[in-house]
Amino acid sequence: MYSGIAVYSGVAIWQAYLLDRSRVCVIKHSIPESEIEGEIKRLRDAIEKSKAQMRDLKQRASSIADKYAIILDTYTLLLEDDILINETIETIRREHSNAEWALTVTLEKFTNLFNNINDDYLKAKKDDLDLVVHGVIKNLIGHHQESLEDIDEPVIIITHELSPSDTILMSKSYILGMATEVGGKTSHVGIFASALGIPAVVGLGDFNRFVNSGDTVIIDGIQGEVIVQPDKERLRHYRKKQQNYQRYEKTLLKDIGLTAETLDGEMVQLMANIETLHEVKTVRKYGGKGIGLYRTEFLYLAANTLPTEDELYSNFKKVVQAMEPYPVVIRTLDIGADKQLRKINDTPEDNPALGLRGIRLSLAQPDLLMNQLKGILRASLYGKTKILYPMVSSVEEVVEANKYLEQAKEELKNAQIPFHDDIPVGAMIETPAAALIVDRILEEVDYISIGTNDLIQYVLAVDRINENVAHLYQPFHPAVLRILKDVFAKAESMGKPVSICGELGGDPMATFLLLGLGKVHELSMEPHSIPKVKNILRKMTLKEARALADHALSLSTSEEVNRFINSEMRNRFPSDFDRDLAFDEKK
Ligand code: PEP
Ligand code: MG
Repeated sequence: MYSGIAVYSGVAIWQAYLLDRSRVCVIKHSIPESEIEGEIKRLRDAIEKSKAQMRDLKQRASSIADKYAIILDTYTLLLEDDILINETIETIRREHSNAEWALTVTLEKFTNLFNNINDDYLKAKKDDLDLVVHGVIKNLIGHHQESLEDIDEPVIIITHELSPSDTILMSKSYILGMATEVGGKTSHVGIFASALGIPAVVGLGDFNRFVNSGDTVIIDGIQGEVIVQPDKERLRHYRKKQQNYQRYEKTLLKDIGLTAETLDGEMVQLMANIETLHEVKTVRKYGGKGIGLYRTEFLYLAANTLPTEDELYSNFKKVVQAMEPYPVVIRTLDIGADKQLRKINDTPEDNPALGLRGIRLSLAQPDLLMNQLKGILRASLYGKTKILYPMVSSVEEVVEANKYLEQAKEELKNAQIPFHDDIPVGAMIETPAAALIVDRILEEVDYISIGTNDLIQYVLAVDRINENVAHLYQPFHPAVLRILKDVFAKAESMGKPVSICGELGGDPMATFLLLGLGKVHELSMEPHSIPKVKNILRKMTLKEARALADHALSLSTSEEVNRFINSEMRNRFPSDFDRDLAFDEKK
């Protein structure tokens, strides 16, 4: 069994199609001075050819997800990057080298920079750059590769990586699953698989040499595992898992129109976390009643230059209009820590998780914040819009951010630009400090949104992306439960609404517990999780949830709480968690 990153749930079992995407070998040649300009022209021509190929692909891509077309725009932007081109030209001139070799030198330099960043999203960007540069190198060399257009029977694609041309040209109806050696959740293969609903596992590392075309493979997109040439027993087990999962998804989607309320009438607004405008369609498909967290970082990470107020406004307006009549919570920029962006903060930090991030960075660079606030305010005219400040750790930060908000309103008024004056403002509760003084923070804002991903990290002092301490990242740790209960109680006593927008909010195993800990108005999650959480919510009473939470709070260790919640949920809802039971069976 090989483990990687699960990017789309479901199980695929079929024959492998091994796609050889091995690298072309680049050798350094010496170029005489008289031919240097010619070599630079050859580089520029190859880049232009790559751009034309991207344009062509984009046209053909119109039949698949819009989100995927954005990726192609990102690739085109990478091809237009001055640093990339100028660095390469400089190497050609300095080293008198051929363009292919100079390009690999530039790529190596960028790769080293990316390698020092511990962020899944930016790692995926490194893969994008690698893919784009190799496309140009292949154009320089005149390398022709096997086409996937000719696939005319069902296959599971196994490859090192998939280029945009691969994914666009191949006949989608024949692709039952995908496994790649590289890539992350936000790499283009991940996005492509999610857009098409194909079970996929990426980031498998050195894996292809263990598979031959024609081998039977199992892609377990639920657990992120791939099995090659399974024995009969495993096949039987995974077929059952596949059927269970398909049946489960079908029933959940059938109930998309049902309200999210407990058996005793407690309503919870189930909303979605998004990173791009294009996800709104998926949110609607899965029955989301609004956007509980729009992570605006993507707009900055995907662009070559910082987005202007107008660009932000136009993007926010589209999201708000597309979600009407439901609300959209737009979070101001949360760059820093695991989401570094050199364009904004280029001072290396020894301890970035405790450094200049979230609202701290915005307050240090008010122009950035003002553009965001004005963009959000202008968009608020088109539907219910809310502002959310990330990584708050003091009342002063909220007060200062609100001052900028007032200034933004003033400037818009002076310029006679309309906006919704009563726009609600919220603070994320994701540091222990914010949780402990939540009553004071609530005096300055209209609502709070609990970011459990970071809150757990900071309460437990466990880096959320460090695999060495992953076993210590325990959402059901008694300290986490206590702090959540405390936050709920303070917010309720002040009559202010609470939303949960960390991963925990989208985990059906946690739904009962969270509702039992206190008054939850909104749960915001990855869109595919909405039906799963709603399904559990509709099968419980608030009274039962409170009893469950009370018992959980009486326990002393994460292990005890995990065991208790797991057994309670599995016993109460065996058919909802039997996909996990099926997984246990094979161990
Ligand atoms: C969180 O920390 O829980 C959260 C929702 O924010 P992010 O994951 O973007 O840090
Ligand atoms: Mg966070």
